[in-house]
Amino acid sequence: MICVSITEATHQEALQAIERCAPAADAIELRMDLIAGGDLPQLVAAARCASNRIKVIVTCRRKEESLIPGAGVPVTKKNEMTKIAKMKLLKQAVAWGVDFIDIELAAGEKAIAQLQSFCRKQKSLTRIIVSWHDTSKTPSLTKLKEIFWSCVKTGADLVKIVPYACRMSDNLKVLSLIAYAKAQNRDIIAMCMGEEGKISRVMASQWGSHLGFAVLPGVKQSAPGQLTVQIMKQIEQLMKGSFHIARPVPAISDALTFVLLGNPVRHSLSPLMHNTALAAMKVEGHYSAFCVSDAGAAMAGIRGMNIRGASVTIPLKTEVMEYLDEIDADALALGAVNTIVNDSGKLIGYNTDWLGLMQALKNKISLSGKTFVIIGAGGTARAAAYGIKKEGGQPIIVNRNQEKGKALAAQFDCPFYPLADIGKVQADALINATSVGMYPQIHRSPVDAVIPANYQVVVDVIYNPLKTKLLRDAEAKGCRIFSGLEMFVHQGAEQLKLWTGREAPLALMKKTVRERLEKFES
Ligand code: NAP
Repeated sequence: MICVSITEATHQEALQAIERCAPAADAIELRMDLIAGGDLPQLVAAARCASNRIKVIVTCRRKEESLIPGAGVPVTKKNEMTKIAKMKLLKQAVAWGVDFIDIELAAGEKAIAQLQSFCRKQKSLTRIIVSWHDTSKTPSLTKLKEIFWSCVKTGADLVKIVPYACRMSDNLKVLSLIAYAKAQNRDIIAMCMGEEGKISRVMASQWGSHLGFAVLPGVKQSAPGQLTVQIMKQIEQLMKGSFHIARPVPAISDALTFVLLGNPVRHSLSPLMHNTALAAMKVEGHYSAFCVSDAGAAMAGIRGMNIRGASVTIPLKTEVMEYLDEIDADALALGAVNTIVNDSGKLIGYNTDWLGLMQALKNKISLSGKTFVIIGAGGTARAAAYGIKKEGGQPIIVNRNQEKGKALAAQFDCPFYPLADIGKVQADALINATSVGMYPQIHRSPVDAVIPANYQVVVDVIYNPLKTKLLRDAEAKGCRIFSGLEMFVHQGAEQLKLWTGREAPLALMKKTVRERLEKFES
């Protein structure tokens, strides 16, 4: 739907503009803050007479959200309205049965609630748009989402978010926001103002924005970057004729490149898993592995090349932390980052290892009140202990190196046993968080073959081979087993969620990695 803003300086000119735009526009927005001496009932009646299908929006924009450097429509003292006058006028618009009234989020919850209550009392069909404008910049996508939810929380029928584009990439943030709102089943009007924002005006309605805004030829713009209604219509026709976007394309803000950083990375299955998932998610992006030894240089590369996201593996998980702008609380507590999100130049670190392991565990066993022996005292053992504690379980650390094992146990206030004493330990489940048994040492296990008999569930974080010697021994003793494949796929899915804001195709990722490993093993 294309809406023309009626921004004329006088009531007479506004009446003429309504007549001129009625045949082309789907909606008109009466900018009552700009039409000096505008008689609302007459303007609404004129719109209804000109076309019985045209929607009418009534707006009294406050000057803070209207004054744009370089815009053609200044707000003069003469037509600036008091808050009381604005509320009165919006209520009058409801009484006249307009389709929408627009009130800024900045007007406050009380004012918005008053209008909602008025609509209810009037049994009115008028819908309330809660809007937010930034006339100088486009904030981050995260901030835009926060604003979106603030608008939603007011009970808005429709949310309108219009920032000012300073650069082309700002358009992508706003288009991403539309895709995000659509994914939440929320109606939204969003685009960017400014010359750099023109492309968002063209794309917004294709992406799912409820309305696009345009001007009449030869008429001053109500916001810079507006195209004429004819051009917008032509583009709309062209789009309809040439291709059809059934669903919004993925919500990615800037770059579409993803990398794995670590050493070694040559045999990693992350590129296979992530590229398969990206293709299935229809995200135009690529994931590649880079063998890296200098964390600082790698972080500079992510910023410089505008790489959207990175996986971080051994030996950089701790080292990268000092180069990041922000670290998520869980990653900070774990002292390790395995995922980086580049949010328009701001690098944010996360840890999805513990989340992946917890999701995999939760599918097999309830964690609360259960005891878990964790063999190992490295990063993965710490992730396991952290997650188990968080889920209400009790970790027990078992490690070869006693000093390291005791230190980890002290950190989580849990018991420690030397690896040699594992036969003395009782618990519900056993988790191997060491590299013992990993390819090519496939005939090794961190514990004697009889040990798994002490547990109902045995878990290995290793996924190559799919069934380690520990798991084969455990299976022979009748234990429920599961391999590191589950953890690997879940932690990868969490990474994709952080990078794209969307659910990853977990089953496909698992199948793809499993098939590759089976092929490798045969
Ligand atoms: P790490 O920090 O180097 O820790 C390795 C641990 O293994 C140490 O506690 C070490 O014990 C123990 N260990 C090594 N060799 C041993 C041996 N011969 N006997 C007994 N203990 C031994 O490694 P990490 O980052 O925690 O990784 C551990 C494993 O998890 C790796 O195989 C990795 O591939 C896997 N992993 C899997 C996933 C997944 O998604 N499935 C994700 C992350 C990691 P000491 O303290 O005594 O040296």
